[in-house]
Amino acid sequence: YLVIPCYNEEEVLPETTKRLKEKMGTLMKKKKIAKDSKVIFVNDGSKDRTWELITQYHQTDSLFGGINLSRNRGHQNALLAGLMTVYEDCDMVISMDADLQDPPALLPKMYDAIVEEGYDSVATRRVSRVGEPPIRSFFARMFYKIINKISNADIVDGARDYRLMTRQMVDAILSMGEYNRFSKGIFGWVGFQTKWLAYENVERVAGETKWNFWKLFLYSLEGIVAFSTVPLTIASLFGILF
Ligand code: UDP
Ligand code: MG
Repeated sequence: YLVIPCYNEEEVLPETTKRLKEKMGTLMKKKKIAKDSKVIFVNDGSKDRTWELITQYHQTDSLFGGINLSRNRGHQNALLAGLMTVYEDCDMVISMDADLQDPPALLPKMYDAIVEEGYDSVATRRVSRVGEPPIRSFFARMFYKIINKISNADIVDGARDYRLMTRQMVDAILSMGEYNRFSKGIFGWVGFQTKWLAYENVERVAGETKWNFWKLFLYSLEGIVAFSTVPLTIASLFGILF
C-alpha cells in the first residue's frame, strides 16, 4: 500500500496518479510488488475538488482508492488514519506526499532493500533544500540542531516522511498511543533495521505548500515536547525557583 495524505491537491493529483500508475505498473510487471498493490489517498478535509478526483480515479482504476476524513486534521493525522486503515491486509506500507516531492523513481530501490537486502524499513532524506525559502531552511536546520541536542530520539536532518515500512514496523508505530504524532521521531523511536536513501530536493509539481511558518513552528514545538524531557525540566526548575 502507498498512503498519500492530500489537502487541497487538485492541481497535482492528475500528474501524481499518472506517474504512480507508470511506476507501479512496471513494478508489478517485474513482479517486484503484488498485483493487488494499492495507492490510497487520504483526503484531509480538502476544500477543493480533491475528493471528487480521488473518487474518479477509483472508479476508473482499481489501483487507486481513498479515505475521506470528516475535516482537516493535518498531515500527520491523515497519515495515521491511512496506516490504521490499511495495515491489517498489507505486507508493506509506503508513506508519500501528493506533490511528487517524494520521487516515485526511488520506489524500485526501496523495494529491493526490503526484499533482497532484508531491511525492515527504507527511509529517505534530502541532501539539499534548493528552491525552499532561505528563512525556512534556516529554521529547519536550527530545529534539527536543537532537537538532537536535547532528545535521545535520533532525528535526521532533511529526513522526509517518505518511507517504506514492513507490516511489523507499522504495527509498532500504531501501538504507540501518541496523541500528537511527530512521525519523524516515532519512526526513529520504534527502531528496526533502516536503510537511508539520499536525494536532491525536488520542488512541488504544482500548487503551493500547505505549511506556513506558524504551522511549522508549532509542529516543531510538538516534536520537541514529545521527544525531550528538557522542556519539563525547565518548567520544574522555574517552579522551584518561584
Ligand atoms: N497535507 C495534509 N494535510 C494538511 C497539510 C498537508 O494532508 O493539513 C498533505 C499535503 O497534501 C501533501 C503533504 O501533506 O501531500 C505535504 O504537504 P506540503 O507538500 O504542503 O508540505 P511541504 O512539502 O511544503 O513540507
Ligand atoms: Mg511538499
